Amino acid sequence: MSAELEELYQSIILDHNRRPQNHRVMADATGHAEGLNPLCGDQVTVFVKLEGDRLADVSFQGHGCAISKASASLMTQAVKGKTVAESQAIFDRFHAMVTGQGTEGITGGLKALSGVSKFPLRVKCASLGWHAMKAALAGET
Ligand code: ZN
Repeated sequence: MSAELEELYQSIILDHNRRPQNHRVMADATGHAEGLNPLCGDQVTVFVKLEGDRLADVSFQGHGCAISKASASLMTQAVKGKTVAESQAIFDRFHAMVTGQGTEGITGGLKALSGVSKFPLRVKCASLGWHAMKAALAGET
């Protein structure tokens, strides 16, 4: 990876850490789930609002390291408005990326987290919000 690209990725993560998207409690959520990463001290609660088969809204609350917050923020952007099946597919591609299986099918700012695959302890930070999103959806059905 070029130094410029690494810098760009770094700035995306820092930006989402400073100004996380969809960072709020959702009063009318149809499901929510908490994720904890005791190794790092990350805590996140993900709220989902299903309308039929579509994620009409996704938000999160919590605290933790920059990676966990940026990843949860990017997650909400990636799956908002998608169907449950599409969200699952995005989850699978994200999981493949952070476990070092390449960035195929990854779009937008999510690629900023591809470097995480080089740091096994950070994979938990990056995956936390995603697993909580999946759990929140599972609780709904
Ligand atoms: Zn962390």
